[in-house]
Amino acid sequence: MESNESIPDWSQPYAIAEKIWWVGAPLQDDAFQCHTYLIENGSESILIDPGSMINFDEMIRKVETVLPLSDIRWIICQHQDPDITASLPALDRLITRSDAMVLTHWRAIALLKHYNVRIPFQCIEKMGWRLDTGARRIQFIFTPYLHFPGAFCTFDDQSGILFSSDLFGGFTEQWQLFAQDESYFEAMRPFHEHYMPSQTILFDGLLKLSPLPIRMIAPQHGSIIPEHLVQFMIERLKDLDCGLFSLAQSSTDVQRLSRLNLLLRKFFKDLVFVREFRSVLETLAQLAGQLLPLVGLDIHWQLDEEEFLLWSQENHYQRRQTKPCADVTALFRQPDQGSDWSVRGVYLCYLVQEEKSALVLHLRDSESGGVKGLAIFRMQRAVVITQEEGQILNRMGEALSVAAMREILQFQLEGERQRYYERSIRDPLTNLYTRFYLREAAGRLFEIQDRDAHTQLAFAAFDLDFFKSVNDTYGHAAGDDVLRALGQILLAETRTMDIPVRLGGEEFLLLMVGSGIPESLEVAERIRLRVEKLALPGILSGRSFTISAGVSLRHPKESLEAVMEKADVALYKAKHAGRNRVVMAED
Ligand code: GH3
Ligand code: MG
Ligand code: MG
Repeated sequence: MESNESIPDWSQPYAIAEKIWWVGAPLQDDAFQCHTYLIENGSESILIDPGSMINFDEMIRKVETVLPLSDIRWIICQHQDPDITASLPALDRLITRSDAMVLTHWRAIALLKHYNVRIPFQCIEKMGWRLDTGARRIQFIFTPYLHFPGAFCTFDDQSGILFSSDLFGGFTEQWQLFAQDESYFEAMRPFHEHYMPSQTILFDGLLKLSPLPIRMIAPQHGSIIPEHLVQFMIERLKDLDCGLFSLAQSSTDVQRLSRLNLLLRKFFKDLVFVREFRSVLETLAQLAGQLLPLVGLDIHWQLDEEEFLLWSQENHYQRRQTKPCADVTALFRQPDQGSDWSVRGVYLCYLVQEEKSALVLHLRDSESGGVKGLAIFRMQRAVVITQEEGQILNRMGEALSVAAMREILQFQLEGERQRYYERSIRDPLTNLYTRFYLREAAGRLFEIQDRDAHTQLAFAAFDLDFFKSVNDTYGHAAGDDVLRALGQILLAETRTMDIPVRLGGEEFLLLMVGSGIPESLEVAERIRLRVEKLALPGILSGRSFTISAGVSLRHPKESLEAVMEKADVALYKAKHAGRNRVVMAED
């Protein structure tokens, strides 16, 4: 596509298509520019957006090199701004033919009639939104509120050029008549974000343009968009945030506001698509780093008086539990008037100090509205936060609060699940494992043994002798004391690898890892002896207890039921043989 260097003579009109002329004049040091276009159409020629008074003379001179002014019959004003219509009185003096016509929307006529021009106005809506000159068929596409209530675009069927008025305009640092590549979108971005009132209105307008076979877009400002970039620019614009001036408060740097908004958008997108809080924080730090001289980001969350959660950059945002420290807890309060801290809105406060500047977003509990957490952006040096930046950061605070709450809920659920699990695997009376845990652990151990037959697993089933009589004589509470004491013996006599279980009632089981026949018999025997020697205080003092045991070995592929059954049969034999003994199961 032509770059400015390849345009031979700026003093001449430039043909952007056959019989379609750019008759504008570049303005020095102007990021905006202002274009007028001429459709050469014999005695029915058309002038589009005749432009401001600044380049009026040059515009007329260029038109006259293409055709006599008397050929111009139609003057299209796509909206009512001075850069389009201020030249109407001057044109009025030059165009003398009696059938000349200004074509525009009735909302524009209401204003433009105040120029008191002689050329009559024609409402495009009364023309059925089209102009048919025989050789040329022009369509008008209504794009209300972009940016004017009666704004419209003009489409030339023959060339496929869309004269888009303010739409597709751009602010360019180094202006080019033709957009060179996709980067022109970044020039369009701030132009539209602030100028166009809302994303929905912009989207609706673009939808109306979509069915047209557009081969080129000729906007009033910025650069002309060649065919290969047309679809790209339309699609990107559809997705653009607009109405950013609603955030502006004082002197607004639109470029910066635009960058900030982009940042906010990326962050929101991340919140929606990324489930992991860690990744959300990573993105946040990365985005904030583009805007602030960031040293680090920390998130603190207060669980209760004693317990805090911390996600820090140094720790790659892995969650850690911490204790409160005064420096941090002080930040949970909104700073007082006259303190070093400034407040911007509900979520944001910041500290401007050379050494330890920081920006703090308060993270609030959505229900109570109370400050529960902090996002501390530590900075290398002081930055000044404007009102509107503050507002954007507040929005971020709101979003981050939701994400943090979600994370906390997750954390609490995990804790709950862990406690529930602990309860389900520990018998509350003896603190031994439960049958539930035995099944889980045995499953894992059996898998190991099934792969490696050298792994030895032994089971010892225990049952207190004549325990019913303990209950009957001393009461259930005393019986519980005995069960607790037995629990302690089992824990004391086993290694950490072993799994002592209370199956229920006064029946216990010990799963021994790495034990063969002699070792497991020895352990069971040791436990039997400890019970025999057990001496309990209180009403049970002087009373002795005994226990019987059956020991079995597990063979690879044997089920838990089978190996426990073998131990049970051996235990039964021990009972029948007179109790207070250990019996080895036969295979
Ligand atoms: P043996 O095993 O020697 O044949 O006689 P036993 O008296 O121990 O036999 P049995 O299995 O019939 O009795 C078990 C008793 O254990 C019955 C019940 O009162 C008691 N028991 C079960 N669970 C608990 C408990 O949680 N606490 C107390 N105190 N007693 C329990
Ligand atoms: Mg029993
Ligand atoms: Mg018993």
